[in-house]
Amino acid sequence: MASLPKGEGIYNVVVIGAGTAGLVTAAGTAGLGGRVALIERNKMGGDCLNFGCVPSKALISSARLVQRIRQAEQWGLRKIEPQFAFEEVFARMRERRAKIAPNDSQERFESLGVDVFRGEATFVSPHEVKIDNRRLRAKNIVIATGTRAAVPPIPGIDVVPYFTNETIFDELRSKPESLIVLGGGPIGCELGQTFHRLGVRTTIVQRGDRLLPREDPDVTAFLEDRLRSEGLTIITDADAKSVRRTESGVELTTDNTTLTASALLICSGRTPNVERLGLQNAGVESDAHGIKVNEHLQTTQPHIYAAGDIAGPYLFTHMADVQARVVVRNILMPLQFLRQKIDYSVVPWCTYCDPEIATVGLNETTATKKNIEFHVIRQDLAEVDRAVVESEDYGSAKVLVAKGSDKIIGATLVCESAGDLVHEFVLAMKHGIGLGKISATTHAYPTLAELARKMGDKYNKTRLTPTAKKIFTWLYRRQIRYE
Ligand SMILES: Cc1cc2nc3c(=O)[nH]c(=O)nc-3n(C[C@H](O)[C@H](O)[C@H](O)COP(=O)(O)OP(=O)(O)OC[C@H]3O[C@@H](n4cnc5c(N)ncnc54)[C@H](O)[C@@H]3O)c2cc1C
Repeated sequence: MASLPKGEGIYNVVVIGAGTAGLVTAAGTAGLGGRVALIERNKMGGDCLNFGCVPSKALISSARLVQRIRQAEQWGLRKIEPQFAFEEVFARMRERRAKIAPNDSQERFESLGVDVFRGEATFVSPHEVKIDNRRLRAKNIVIATGTRAAVPPIPGIDVVPYFTNETIFDELRSKPESLIVLGGGPIGCELGQTFHRLGVRTTIVQRGDRLLPREDPDVTAFLEDRLRSEGLTIITDADAKSVRRTESGVELTTDNTTLTASALLICSGRTPNVERLGLQNAGVESDAHGIKVNEHLQTTQPHIYAAGDIAGPYLFTHMADVQARVVVRNILMPLQFLRQKIDYSVVPWCTYCDPEIATVGLNETTATKKNIEFHVIRQDLAEVDRAVVESEDYGSAKVLVAKGSDKIIGATLVCESAGDLVHEFVLAMKHGIGLGKISATTHAYPTLAELARKMGDKYNKTRLTPTAKKIFTWLYRRQIRYE
């Protein structure tokens, strides 16, 4: 079977889309000995590599250093204005991205035994997909077509120049004087802070009453304070009403203000890539969020699966990866009862602002909405010695434990390296390790990881009832009496 010419015969799996979900599905299937075809209409690697995580985090890294240089006095150095050329920061971002790109390249996937096709895939029937004039037949098909920036239908938007995540990293030729970022979710906040730090006067315009609406209000308030203290303008409760081109850029009118800037970046949500898939020819149903799937990630046609952003509900690279692994396994299983259910109980995510905001499980808002009784353990970064010596002693962390126990039901960290630190709680939640056990685990001093242990200690202190303390005091006194 493996020796069949490319495109001929029947594939075990045809994968549509070579972003994270598609790549992991293709590599996993080929690795297990399956015959697999992978179809991509744009760039190998999808959003994460080309227009998402990788370029954004590379820019964030430069912007972070720029900011540290600006604040050099905090480290006992002389205050200086950082010297940099905007274009060179962008060139470095592209160079870093190019270093990662070979992992996702056509050559690499062909070397893994995957037949890669470049072009747009459309269903012809439930077992057949067409790319240009070619047809591929498959036992199973995986839809991994991702999402793209949703452009809101604001009057005037068709005639003004604007950027989205798909264009800003490669088509922005020089530093704009000023930027309006439309949308205050994770992408808008990360890029807004980054551009502002790189010398672009930035305004974030948010429709709702606060940034990062999925996070707890105190977390949002902290971030808004930080961003404002760096000089960003944040406008909330602002519904964009119209936009028009001006001599120097764009003018955006909302229901409460009119703003002008040299450039406009749209970060106001995502829309699923379903339109040109010909889903009706395959009997696959979709809605406004993407392809409808069951808990095994099967679509309304059980032999057709969906994974990644197109299946949702979490639009993260790591979830695309997790879902793809489940799909690979489920395709191999001959019977439905053997198929794995996707588990969304412990999903971490991080907004890579500075400081980072990382969350796993429930926060105070979601736990309250679910009527779950909980107790919150808080820890200020100012009490973590490593944070103090690093001049990173701002931010805080909170862990939610189920009332009356040390069972962790969620954690939110707002601090330097929060995206890394949160994984101690991810592991603990996944494997039922309570906060008491974290307290009993040796953490090296001085590290930011001590944050977790300190919260464990705080939890233990809540267990010291007045009666227990009386008993301990009695024991201490007794020791001395008999010396
Ligand atoms: C600015 C930005 C920053 C982000 N940062 C992070 C982050 O730090 N961490 C994180 O976890 N997530 C981040 N994300 C989200 C992350 O990029 C996505 O969750 C991830 O890329 C989803 O992978 P996917 O495989 O589902 O889809 P995609 O990566 O979108 O891949 C889908 C692919 O399918 C192709 N395709 C679509 N239709 C067809 C068709 N008909 N035929 C052939 N090919 C087709 C597309 O061209 C695309 O390459 C970020 C996103 C953005 C926009």
